[in-house]
Amino acid sequence: MRKARFVRTTVKDNACWGVVEGDVVYRLAGPPPAEQARGEPIGRLEELALLAPATPTKIVCIGRNYAAHAAEHKAEVPAEPLLFFKPPSSVIGPDAPIVLTPQSEQVEHESELAVVIGRRCRDVSADEAWGCVLGVTCGNDVTARDLQRQDSQWTRAKGFDTFCPLGPWLVTGLSEDEVADLEVVCRVNGEERQRGNTGEMVFSPAQLIAYISAIMTLEPGDVIMTGTPAGVSPIFEGDDVEVEVEGVGILKNPVAW
Ligand code: ZN
Repeated sequence: MRKARFVRTTVKDNACWGVVEGDVVYRLAGPPPAEQARGEPIGRLEELALLAPATPTKIVCIGRNYAAHAAEHKAEVPAEPLLFFKPPSSVIGPDAPIVLTPQSEQVEHESELAVVIGRRCRDVSADEAWGCVLGVTCGNDVTARDLQRQDSQWTRAKGFDTFCPLGPWLVTGLSEDEVADLEVVCRVNGEERQRGNTGEMVFSPAQLIAYISAIMTLEPGDVIMTGTPAGVSPIFEGDDVEVEVEGVGILKNPVAW
């Protein structure tokens, strides 16, 4: 698939997909990969309110996939991928507020490479896995760290509404090798908090897809959150959080109460 940027936005109260060419977004009749003819221009990219560039049936997340992050929580790197879910109801797009919860006193950012599935797959090998990918975007695996420590299952800590910012757009056409060497950064109010490189992942995206697809069918639009590098830290009302994945984009979200 060619290198391109795709966005979701709202036109006359209807969510729709668009393709970015220059600074103009053109409407598509359906989700990418858009074999459909490019439609009319919707507007200039910087003027459009963007939605999350994926509509997952599930968000499969990986714990401790960077050794340095496991170490900061004094945890071992797992021998097999450590999986958990975030619900689709936790997804928000760029610029939408992350809303804190009175249930937690320690909500933290986790900057991540998010991989979006392009075609249904089950039991694919690691060699086949990248062929099932539609593209990548930036993700923030927002986590109530105190609740994660309290609960043996992480559904509550990871599952609050607004705890899965994705965006600002979907980038297609990156090779598996290109995606294996991208800086993953988080800034809070402009100050760098996290920096890692996708090359430091314990399990590569292709290995993760192979592992997950041996358990469950992955559907188009499903999102794999590939884990976070070291440097997670609390966020507070009024903060501005940015997740940047090199060559992909910058996902910005304010924090609200
Ligand atoms: Zn995470």
